Amino acid sequence: LLGADGSPAPTIFAEMTALAHRTGALNLGQGFPDHAGPAEVTEAAIRAIREGVNQYSPGRGEPDLLAAIAEHQRRFYGLDLQAEQILVTAGATEALAATLLSQLRAGDEIVVLEPYYDAYVALAALAGARIVPVPLRAPDFQPDLDELSAAVGPRTRMILVNSPHNPTGTVLGLELLDRIVDLAHRHDALIVTDEVYEHLAYDVPHVPIATRPGAAERTLSISSAGKVFSVTGWKIGWVSGPARLIEQVMAVKQFLTFVSGAPFQPAVATGLRLPDPFFTGLRGSYRAKRDLLVDALEEAGFTVTVPASGYFALADAAPLGLPDAVAAARDLPERVGVVAVPLSAFARSERTDLRSILRFAFCKSDAVLEDAAARLRSLR
Ligand code: GLN
Repeated sequence: LLGADGSPAPTIFAEMTALAHRTGALNLGQGFPDHAGPAEVTEAAIRAIREGVNQYSPGRGEPDLLAAIAEHQRRFYGLDLQAEQILVTAGATEALAATLLSQLRAGDEIVVLEPYYDAYVALAALAGARIVPVPLRAPDFQPDLDELSAAVGPRTRMILVNSPHNPTGTVLGLELLDRIVDLAHRHDALIVTDEVYEHLAYDVPHVPIATRPGAAERTLSISSAGKVFSVTGWKIGWVSGPARLIEQVMAVKQFLTFVSGAPFQPAVATGLRLPDPFFTGLRGSYRAKRDLLVDALEEAGFTVTVPASGYFALADAAPLGLPDAVAAARDLPERVGVVAVPLSAFARSERTDLRSILRFAFCKSDAVLEDAAARLRSLR
């Protein structure tokens, strides 16, 4: 977790955002929206502050937010949750931290899809656990069933699922979800699922693994308000699952932050209760942004994987004569004024097959994306 000189190594997202500030380039690196969330939601937070919701919230989360999370899981997925099965956290990040730190012991193995979100490996390291990666490869970035099965064994304590997936946009189909449930049963492993992009699946509706037969009893599901309400700075997340596991997660969570974000909690409850057209509208708007960016990247000469979900598109820069994405990511801001993230930041160094691929975020206003598209075309 530390750089060569012993100081904290900046995350790839912080590094690339700093590069964007330094060069004045358009920041398609770090995944955060440049537009405000729904007014009902942001106004509800302002109202809560005015009305005095400014002190510690209950340890488990505001009861009305717990109720809204349960309603949301019932409305979209038919899942039935009691309040004791839900814990509100400081973003999905704290839900992941408290889950991994409470469930993993030194020497345990945790199976993750690679490339992976950077926090997974850092948190596994803090818990002393060993990452067992299941490679996702171009062009479709789907896991191979045999490789998945081979990764799970007697030392596997946890299978960490992330669908919709950052950074590839991969959505796991039912066959894969059921194979994961089966493997978890056979090896008595927990399933942890990071579903922060649940409302951004463009082709088929998102299926939480907890809805699959035999899964709920051993699954901890994690999500967050950041993406769905475009409020990544609010850091309100949640984890749900069997009450006895949630107790254990809470035992750790209470000493990480205790509680957080009191006035944002009622606002997120308001958001989770927005009518269906909000959620379909969000998805449609991001699908159009995806298409805009993918077209521009293809016209610029990249080989692009059209993402089925999420905020990001992967683009192979090799056809442009740029075989090293780390060098390309450093060069593009000066050359065309666009920042992207090298995919290698999400994988072990031996994944040389990912070396020439860049991740571009499209969670930006159409004006910014059109400007980026014009700049990228100048690469041609
Ligand atoms: N999740 C966002 C991304 O993948 C940013 C997260 C962060 O900055 N830690 O780009």
